[in-house]
Amino acid sequence: MPHNRAIAVFTDLDGTLLDHDTYSWTDARPALDRLKQLSIPLIAVSSKTLAELEHINQTSGLFDGLIGENGGVIALGGNVEQYGPATETVDRTREEIKSAVTVPVDSFRTVSPEVIAAETGLPLEDAIRAGQRHCSDPLIWQPAAKDIAVARKIAEKADLTLVKGGRFHTLCGPSSKGIAMRRMVERLSVAWLQESADGTHQRFTTIALGDSPNDIPMLAEADYAVQIPSKHGKRTLPLLEHSNLRIAPEPGPAGWSKAVNDILDQIINTNKNSEVLHG
Ligand SMILES: [Mg+2]
Repeated sequence: MPHNRAIAVFTDLDGTLLDHDTYSWTDARPALDRLKQLSIPLIAVSSKTLAELEHINQTSGLFDGLIGENGGVIALGGNVEQYGPATETVDRTREEIKSAVTVPVDSFRTVSPEVIAAETGLPLEDAIRAGQRHCSDPLIWQPAAKDIAVARKIAEKADLTLVKGGRFHTLCGPSSKGIAMRRMVERLSVAWLQESADGTHQRFTTIALGDSPNDIPMLAEADYAVQIPSKHGKRTLPLLEHSNLRIAPEPGPAGWSKAVNDILDQIINTNKNSEVLHG
């Protein structure tokens, strides 16, 4: 049964829907329950792999769609599409880097889960899922500055980028959370059209929530953008200029819940008013 308003919510996980320290989403319950009640799809948008996201979803049942590897892969209704670079391109480029630099190069795609576990501190089961990568590959190396420069050049030649995260340099495509979000909206619209009784095409109103610079393309794409303030930082400065950006009143899932509820109130009230005007 399709919901009666075409709204979709896109959310980052760590530090946004999940508490920065405990990874709990319990405090987001009020808004999560309301989304379920209204049949509004919730989409996870993360740098995690699909295997990691699917595992989270198996236990939580929170998400209707998954966007993994920072926008490189999309999963909706059992269909997986890879928008990031081909896996072979990533592998070939890594091998080129390996033969051009002066230090040994391994990566999540080349080592055993035991090594990933040792490098990341993840339990083995999680390390296995973190290693199941489609279109991005964190390098395991100890580079000098000149190695990084060489690697960046080789990556660029293959239309890839070398992004420094908290801990690893990750070889990945230029795909971003924003592009993936637009594609997911297209797919949701198709699903909506198939389900709706009168066959009317509806433009989806989108809400996106994030806390970090890699969320900016997703927030920029949304009709309603929510920045989750950092839990441990000082004053939160807006990540981007956006006519409809709000900073959640609290960090983590509690702020997530309040912001989503406020926006839903606003959208639903606007809908009611326009029904009065035009109905
Ligand atoms: Mg985050």
